[in-house]
Amino acid sequence: MCTRSGKTRCSGSVGVRIGVLAVQGNVSEHVHAFRGALGHMGCVASEVLQVRDAGTIPTLDGLAIPGGESTTISRLIDKNCMRKAIEDFEGGIFATCAGMVLVSSDSGDPKVEPLGIIGMSVDRNAFGRQRESFETELKIEGLTGGDFHAIFIRAPIVTRVDASVRVISRISQGIVAVEKGKHMALSFHPELGNDTRLHERFLEKIGN
Ligand code: GLN
Repeated sequence: MCTRSGKTRCSGSVGVRIGVLAVQGNVSEHVHAFRGALGHMGCVASEVLQVRDAGTIPTLDGLAIPGGESTTISRLIDKNCMRKAIEDFEGGIFATCAGMVLVSSDSGDPKVEPLGIIGMSVDRNAFGRQRESFETELKIEGLTGGDFHAIFIRAPIVTRVDASVRVISRISQGIVAVEKGKHMALSFHPELGNDTRLHERFLEKIGN
């Protein structure tokens, strides 16, 4: 389906269907970033939608779980009866910040029931109050075009990964980006700012 811009596999009627979990958090920012990424890639027939019900999830190729408040998102996933549909989802999951906490197998916090999609332990709010937010240039394995300007907002750190999980970026405090099969999880917010390379990388993964 999707390949980088200029390549033709996205033209015509073949496209991808991307959902952004829309119970709380940076939903519209991810919708905007995915639309931009698909535009760069020439994926004219693709669709990006906000997801509020379990029934939509199996119809998707990719699902984004945005940043926000992981305790709230966890509670709303259950309130909206979406947990099983997310756990059973066969497409790729793109999880950012609070989303990273949710897809982990160990959230370190009883208020966040982890989905167990990526075998890893996380430390919520790992940077503490004094450094709740910061920006830095990140080296990300396999990302062309230079460092990624990453925005961290009360971000988690990954403290342990299973052998099947690929670490693609770390800073001195710990791991901040991982991939597992079609899934990606990032401590920071690639949907803030105009750099859609990581959204494009996810789209490439789910299109292959
Ligand atoms: N600290 C938040 C949490 O763990 C995540 C913050 C964010 O997504 N920007 O829920």
